[in-house]
Order: sequence, then C-alpha cells, then structure tokens
Amino acid sequence: MAKVFCIANQKGGVGKTTTTVNLAAGLAKVGQRVLMIDLDPQGNATMGSGVDKRKLEMSVYDVLLESASIAEAKVHSEKCGYDVLGASRDLAGAEVELVAIERRETRLKLALADAASSYDFVLIDCPPSLSMLTLNGLCAANGVIVPMQCEYFALEGLTDLVNTIKQVHANLNKELVVIGLLRVMFDPRITLQQQVSEQLKSHFAEKVFNTVIPRNVRLAEAPSYGLPGVVFDPAARGSLAYLQFAEEMVQRIKSM
Ligand code: ADP
Ligand code: MG
Repeated sequence: MAKVFCIANQKGGVGKTTTTVNLAAGLAKVGQRVLMIDLDPQGNATMGSGVDKRKLEMSVYDVLLESASIAEAKVHSEKCGYDVLGASRDLAGAEVELVAIERRETRLKLALADAASSYDFVLIDCPPSLSMLTLNGLCAANGVIVPMQCEYFALEGLTDLVNTIKQVHANLNKELVVIGLLRVMFDPRITLQQQVSEQLKSHFAEKVFNTVIPRNVRLAEAPSYGLPGVVFDPAARGSLAYLQFAEEMVQRIKSM
C-alpha cells in the first residue's frame, strides 16, 4: 500500500512544488512507483511534470467531485517516470462546489483507497493556503513534508500549519503526522541561514531531515522546460540533493 505525503506550507514560494516534482522524480529513479497529485489550481506541479494542464481531459477536479476515479483521471509522464493526477483552472472552483457536499474534506482520501495499491508513494502538492483543497490533502495523508527556507520568520510561519495539522489529527485523520521539515534554497554562506538551521535542529530534532536542498539555479530553470530538475539536469547540485532526499524518504517509510 502506498504511503501518502502532503507537501505543505501555507506560505507561497517556499519550494513546495519544486520539492514535490523533484522528490517524485527522485523516487521514480530509485525504482518506486509514484503518483503525484497537484492540488494547487495554478497547476505548476502538473506543468513541471511535462503535462500540459490546458490539454487535460480529466483532472483532480473530477476526482474531488466524484465524476472520475484516480485510475481514469491520471496520466503517465513518460519523461519523469511517474503518474500525474493533474490540476487545471477549474480546480479553483472546486473549493466553492465542495462546500455544499457531504464529507467534503475526505473526497481525496476515499478516491485514494482504490488507487493506493498501485503505488509505493503518493505525493500531494498543496496550494499556499489552509483551504478545503489542502484539507483534502491532509485528510488523505499519512504524513506532511514541510519545505522551508531558513529565514527569520520561518519558525513563526510554522505555528499556523502545526495547529492545523493538530486539528486535522484530532478530528479527521488520526494517522497524520509531520514527517519532517526540509530545509530548501539553502545558502551556507549566509550566516542567518546557518543560525536558523541550527535553531530548527534544536527545536525539532529528528523531525528535521538530514538532507539539505541548496539554492541552485538549475532547479529554478527546469520548470520552463516542463521538467523537474532531477530529470532536466541530474548532475546539478540541487538535483543530487533531491535524489539524496528521495533515498532518505525510502528509509523513513521503512519505519512507518
Ligand atoms: P511554492 O510551490 O511553495 O510556491 P516553488 O517550488 O514554486 O514554491 O518555488 C518558488 C520559486 O523558487 C520557483 O521559482 C522555484 O523555481 C524556485 N526554487 C525552488 N527551490 C529552489 C532551489 N532549491 N534553488 C533555486 N530556486 C528554487
Ligand atoms: Mg506551488
């Protein structure tokens, strides 16, 4: 059965999508069967996996509204080596449409129950908000991966997310845990980043992943080619770090 992880942080631009597609590609490279679900109406993870969101016949929207199963709505990204349940523009409307529906926060979880045996990992790229879409992700997940930059307000921003996760844990999904904090866009030459990194380790101990993702321009360039960095330029420093992170995740789930 697949382990399901949300990549979440309510801040935008912190590396959620970059982490989702590169971890997916990294896991695929080490032989794992991966489904990537794009829960962000912007569809960046879809496009960044070589899937054109404007040409999707079915998407995660159809799955949330129960007009399609995951098996029907997913597509395979040949170049990236994983399946994609994509997001298109209509996903923005799902938020409103779901309001009127019963058990609206568990739609994705139910859909995944049928698909989980086909994968080792399901990775869910969440939008930068604690919305009904993110809630669907959190309800469906075994754990949350939180990418964060080592900046001054990093710890402060975590509080809202941690509180939301606690509430989901208490009321909706007893399994949900924070798997770990992933330091991304790291620049060791910046003293403040080193300090915040140390703070993170002393506050959160083993919840901080060993792997650190460096700031690396190849990771930022890759999406314009519709590819994760790991596929676009496997030898780049950032890509090697995400590959290492994939291996760390494979180890982590052995103890889950
Ligand atoms: P989010 O999904 O949280 O909004 P993104 O993954 O889209 O964040 O990242 C925000 C921006 O930072 C993007 O332009 C992305 O290419 C860039 N970026 C992400 N990670 C790195 C990195 N390690 N090095 C350099 N640029 C990065
Ligand atoms: Mg994103």
